[in-house]
Amino acid sequence: MRRKLIAANWKMYKTPDQARAFVSEFKPMIAGHDRDDTALFPPFISIPATLEAVAGTKIEVGAQNMHWEKQGAYTGEVSADMLKCVGCTQVIIGHSERRQYFGETDIGVNRKLRGALADGLKAIVCVGELFEERESGLTESILRRQVGAALREISGADVDKFCIAYEPVWAIGTGKTATPEIAANAHIFIRGEAAKAIGADAARKLRVIYGGSVKPENAHALMSQEEIDGALVGGASLDPKSFAAIVNW
Ligand code: PEP
Repeated sequence: MRRKLIAANWKMYKTPDQARAFVSEFKPMIAGHDRDDTALFPPFISIPATLEAVAGTKIEVGAQNMHWEKQGAYTGEVSADMLKCVGCTQVIIGHSERRQYFGETDIGVNRKLRGALADGLKAIVCVGELFEERESGLTESILRRQVGAALREISGADVDKFCIAYEPVWAIGTGKTATPEIAANAHIFIRGEAAKAIGADAARKLRVIYGGSVKPENAHALMSQEEIDGALVGGASLDPKSFAAIVNW
C-alpha cells in the first residue's frame, strides 16, 4: 500500500501573515488526521512563517522551485541546500507553469531532481500534456518523454524520496478535472514508463499523484482510485476549509 500525499501549491499567493493565518485555521480542521501525508508549498518568502506555524505537527513544508547547483552566480535563484537549511523537506519540480512561462526544460527538470535528491530534499516532479496534445492523441508520447527525461540517472533506491504528479495542463486552474478513469489510466502509463528507468520493483512503490482542479467535491472520487496516490492542489488549497475538506476526503 502506498501512503497518499496531499499537497498544497500556493503558487504566487500568501504573504507570511496570510500563511500564518491559513495554518492556524487549517491545523484544528485536520487534527488527528494520520491517514495521508500533508505538505504545504508557499512562495519562498513565506516559507519561514509557514514552518513556524506548522511546528509540532506532521505537516511538511516545501518550495515551488529550486536551482540544481548548490550555490553560484545565478541571480534570483535558490538552491536545494538553502531550502534544506531553513527547514524545507520537499520541493516541486517542473510545474507546467514553470515549463510554460519560465522556459523550464526536461533537462532542467532532471538536473533539479538529481540536485534535490543529492541534497536530501524530497521532490514532486510534475508532468502532463497540453489540451492540443491530448486532442491529437499525443498524451502517451508526451508523458513518455517527460518521465523518461526526468528520471534519467535516478536510482530506484531513491523511490521513496520523490513522486510524480500527473497534471494534465488542460485541467490546471480551469475547473476541468480529469475523470478518475482518465487520471488512473495516465497513472498506470506513467508507472510503466517509470519502471523502464528505475526498475519494476521501485516503480511499484512510486507515488503518482494527480493535480488539476482537485476540489472538495471531486476529491473523494479521485482519491478512492487505487492508482491515484494523492493530490497536488492549486486554487482549492488557498482556503483552509477547502483544503482541509480535501485532506479529509
Ligand atoms: C497546480 O497548480 O498544481 C494545480 C493543480 O492547480 P489547480 O488545482 O488550481 O488546478
